[in-house]
Amino acid sequence: KLFLASVSVVLIANRWNAPTFDPESLKGARVLVTGASTGIGEQMAYHYARFGAQIVITARREHVLKQVAERCLSLGAQKALYISADMSSESDPDKALSFALDQLGGLDYLVLNHIGPSPFSMWDGDVEHVRWIMKVNFFSYVQMAWKGLEALEKSKGSLVIVSSLLGKMASPFVAPYTATKSALNGFFGSLQHELAMKNSNVSLTICTLGLIDTEAAMEKVKGKTDVPAYPAADAALSMIVAGATRQPEDYYPWFTFYVAATKDWFPSITRYTVRNSYTYEP
Ligand code: NDP
Repeated sequence: KLFLASVSVVLIANRWNAPTFDPESLKGARVLVTGASTGIGEQMAYHYARFGAQIVITARREHVLKQVAERCLSLGAQKALYISADMSSESDPDKALSFALDQLGGLDYLVLNHIGPSPFSMWDGDVEHVRWIMKVNFFSYVQMAWKGLEALEKSKGSLVIVSSLLGKMASPFVAPYTATKSALNGFFGSLQHELAMKNSNVSLTICTLGLIDTEAAMEKVKGKTDVPAYPAADAALSMIVAGATRQPEDYYPWFTFYVAATKDWFPSITRYTVRNSYTYEP
């Protein structure tokens, strides 16, 4: 009864605080989306385009970015530019950000979404991969956020960090990836407090996603779990709305909030459920 009462209170409180999203607020907004050649980032680019934003997209594959940018223009983007950047390099995160600032004359939304490929399997001791994935999935986020903060401060803009339920709850087969998402949650959670304490103009939204039906994710989990996957376009829209309405957090699908909130109530049940959500055949 206590559990149900708590859940109801939280549900009502969330509903009460539900922000009103004004799509017009994104018309002409200057947006940089990383990891936008495929998956959720690509869907975010299309949504921003439909809202009439000015977009810069980045990822490594230039020919794919070109196609996404063309589609953005056809969907209504005021501008759609692209720059190829490898986020494992020391200089490319800065290069992509400078390009966006120059081309857009400032920035209203910085959406950090990219991830490098990482195996979905038992950890095999590849320390070099962990070092590399931390560079791509974490250090480049820190670097770009720092470089973008001044422009966001000027524009009263928003920083959107795409994280995962796996950054809040450890699971098998994803040790290096989970490490990067936990690092994002820790770093940007701390930064969020600091910005608020400094009365900064910048809003910071940390997004927690469950399993989303992107090609990359579906390929990885095939035959290994029956956890349901949710549409990338809906995940993308949920994060855009959360960023535009300056929410500190976004959870998609909705139940990820309750999973994250209750996972430590009965740790042994959580451990049992997590381990039994995956198939393992040695
Ligand atoms: P995808 O693998 O579909 O897309 C990854 C993007 O990052 C691509 O645009 C890719 O383009 C780019 N990328 C890969 N390596 C690099 C690199 N070294 N430098 C720059 N860009 C790179 O990922 P998803 O769309 O599935 O995920 C997007 C976000 O959502 C991630 O932050 C992920 O952690 C999060 N998320 C996803 C979930 C899911 O189930 N899909 C669940 C929870 C969170 P290119 O190859 O051209 O470089």
